[in-house]
Amino acid sequence: MPMIPGHNVTGSIEKVGPNVAGFKKGDMVAVYGAWGCGECEFCRQGDEQFCDPRKWVGFGPDGGYAQYLLVPEQRHLIKIGELSPYDVAPLLDAGLTAYRAIKQALPLPHPGAFIEILGIGNIGYYAVQIAKVLSPTSEVIAVDVLQDRLQLAAGLGSDHQILADSSAVKDIREISGADGVSVIVDTVGSDATLAIAAQTAGKRAVIALVGLAGGRIPKLPGECRVANSVWGTISEMNELLALYAEGKIKCQIKRFALDSINEVFQLIQTKQLQEQAVITPQVT
Ligand SMILES: [Zn+2]
Repeated sequence: MPMIPGHNVTGSIEKVGPNVAGFKKGDMVAVYGAWGCGECEFCRQGDEQFCDPRKWVGFGPDGGYAQYLLVPEQRHLIKIGELSPYDVAPLLDAGLTAYRAIKQALPLPHPGAFIEILGIGNIGYYAVQIAKVLSPTSEVIAVDVLQDRLQLAAGLGSDHQILADSSAVKDIREISGADGVSVIVDTVGSDATLAIAAQTAGKRAVIALVGLAGGRIPKLPGECRVANSVWGTISEMNELLALYAEGKIKCQIKRFALDSINEVFQLIQTKQLQEQAVITPQVT
């Protein structure tokens, strides 16, 4: 402190520096949030989210809960044209994280295979849709502790909805059969979700771990492996935006004015907000 948070940022360009080419005042852009050095092995391969020391906008450099944001390099900007800047904002983290986790596990799910999404929060909301788009011949199993989140998943295209109670493992195994689930995206990462993952995974499954709850990884069947998945690259963000532009990914947002930011945090903490909150300097 003091620091301005906010790492999923979209907006219009107000001013460009002297060496900037290809962007001008008024262009609508999304800000790719992992600001790497641009020169290390990771950055050169596009994985700027792995660059050390970590420089993520809103986690160190001042972020987007503000009227203006200073972006140090034009390569962090993505032109979004006519796309809704309000929808694109949550795609920059929750959407991108879900996209990379599932894309990295492909082409594992063969036709008729099962993809299990543990936790239908912000990441799970996108993971259900992305799983159906990237692997349309697979069946998606949505798992959550809340019935209304499962209903939401069903509306987004999940084929099966399982309440994460004491019979969840049995219920999932009845659906997946003896071969188990091929790809599991654990958006929670707690002891409880990892236990469900380990007991429902097939012998060659991948458990894509994106949740940061710090649970322990239990004994896994066969050659099942756990693969950490961290945020995503700017190329993957462009791929996700292409899917959104084609209408294949839906967003569910609610807009708030910057002045009411503390109220928004309270709504999130008390779980009163199902939509993704989008903060704007002025709500118009
Ligand atoms: Zn770097």
